[in-house]
Amino acid sequence: MNFKDDLLQFFFPELCVVCHRILTRQESVLCMDCFFHIPRTEFHKDPENAVAQLFWGRVGIENAAAFFYFSKGSLYQVLIHKLKYRGRKDIGIEMGRAFGAELKSSIFASANLILPVPLHPSKLKLRGYNQSEMIAEGLSRALEVATDFNILQRVVSGQSQTRKSRFDRYLNAEGKYVLSNPAALEGKHIIIVDDVVTTGSTLEACAIEILRVPGTRVSVLTLAVA
Ligand SMILES: [Zn+2]
Repeated sequence: MNFKDDLLQFFFPELCVVCHRILTRQESVLCMDCFFHIPRTEFHKDPENAVAQLFWGRVGIENAAAFFYFSKGSLYQVLIHKLKYRGRKDIGIEMGRAFGAELKSSIFASANLILPVPLHPSKLKLRGYNQSEMIAEGLSRALEVATDFNILQRVVSGQSQTRKSRFDRYLNAEGKYVLSNPAALEGKHIIIVDDVVTTGSTLEACAIEILRVPGTRVSVLTLAVA
């Protein structure tokens, strides 16, 4: 903190996203009280949890977990809302880091690479950033596992044919997700990251794409589970 930060904090104090209390210097995004009461799933302690079960019979996922429960009207819904629609990138990084800290002694810490689910290009243009990249960044810092924002890409219809043919081999059934550099994933345990998991179909499509690469294993982490 320098003088300028002190002034900013004085005139525009940072508020807890959930309860709007003024945050102390040690707090970020949430006050200690709201942080303590995050409706955690603790799914990383149960290999047969509800998120893992979403993928049963669909695609082979090593491990899956979500940080907290997300329901309409929940006080914590605001975390996802502000991360996605109010430019609050810091929420993604901070919550990713907090989640990562709780996963430190779990199987997730032994992964080799963290890949965020790519955003549809039109949404990326509108939002200016991919919220899943922010979460991946926070997880990466806490778990000390590398992240890569380019390997897993989203292709939309209408993109140039030259680009399409180059990645043709790696197009999945829906033609939505492609790998720019599949060889870089060989033999690795990869964590795919998204903000919220509902049906699991997006994560499933990404996992199927990655698992085409020899020797890969895939796990899944999301900030919230609907
Ligand atoms: Zn609070």
